[in-house]
Amino acid sequence: MSDDRIENLIIIGGACAGYTAAIYAARADLEPLVIEGFQWGGQLQNTTEVENYPGFPEGIMGPELMGNFRAQAERFGARFITDDATRVELTDGGIQSVWVNDDRYRARAVILAMGAEPKRLGIPGEVELGGRGVSTCGVCDGAFFKGRDVIVIGGGDTAMEDSIFVSKYADKLSVVHRRDEFRASQIMQEKARERPNIDFKTPFVPEEFIAGDAGALERVRLRNAATGATEEVEVGGAFVAIGHIPGSALVKGQVDLHDNGYVKVAEPSTRTNLAGVFAIGDLVDHTYRQAITAAGSGCRGALDAEWYLRDTPPAIEPAEAEEASVS
Ligand code: NAP
Repeated sequence: MSDDRIENLIIIGGACAGYTAAIYAARADLEPLVIEGFQWGGQLQNTTEVENYPGFPEGIMGPELMGNFRAQAERFGARFITDDATRVELTDGGIQSVWVNDDRYRARAVILAMGAEPKRLGIPGEVELGGRGVSTCGVCDGAFFKGRDVIVIGGGDTAMEDSIFVSKYADKLSVVHRRDEFRASQIMQEKARERPNIDFKTPFVPEEFIAGDAGALERVRLRNAATGATEEVEVGGAFVAIGHIPGSALVKGQVDLHDNGYVKVAEPSTRTNLAGVFAIGDLVDHTYRQAITAAGSGCRGALDAEWYLRDTPPAIEPAEAEEASVS
């Protein structure tokens, strides 16, 4: 329920970055209000085992890790609204307003942590076989495909980077791309071409991921974009690496964005162009995009917000200013 209360800090987004910011802000007695989203937990909520998050030598399941982040923030007094922020009215150094449907919440500072979504091909089997052979993160899942034949779909730097990483584990890896030309930088292409177990399959468009009897990915149907001919290829794993979409629609037109939609911050800080508005995690980062880098940036965001609140006197509301001038 919203009321006339003005919070110290609202955090929009409940995943690695947002919850880490909430832990730090709560421990700093800021009592942050986290509008965590209806489907809180971000990309890790759809992941199975996470083996590269430090502190868990045996690995941990993605949803469990997110539950732990959240519980840790709650322990120190963070409060949660398990719904999506639907609208914001951001100001330069004034009171920030965030709506969840008809309820308005106000705060002196806001941290934006709405993350990014991997782009999907939108073909049959892609969602159904997620976590059972189809992955959107080579760096996260590559090690699960030791000795298997895999494909990486895409022609950009992410596809090259994923291929180079996954090829350390896979037996044979094909980069499947819909055109003969690659968008990836020359250097990344060369690095991928140097790997003896990587080949390039172009121009091919994936049409369907097909499960075997065990319910895991077994084949992918590819269409030759030049001839229209289709073929089925046996694969143990498929990595969809066709880019990401940052969750910046909520703030578009209010904070400065890069051309690719990611929020601009004054690196190495998390400050946006608006005083009192900070941005963290995958909403900002189109390079590293790891749970640990998102968490690290959440820590920076909370410290930036804490220092801002410490150094900035509370803004006078228009109604209060009127009252003051009358008396
Ligand atoms: P990207 O550059 O937008 O490339 C996406 C690739 O996926 C393109 O080759 C595109 O094909 C293909 N694609 C898109 N939609 C598709 C679909 N529906 N079906 C089949 N293929 C599809 O994205 P990115 O590779 O994630 O890179 C994003 C940014 O991060 C870039 O600026 C990149 O340089 C940067 N980055 C840098 C590094 C690094 O330097 N180490 C690593 C990763 C990312 P078309 O080419 O035909 O459009």
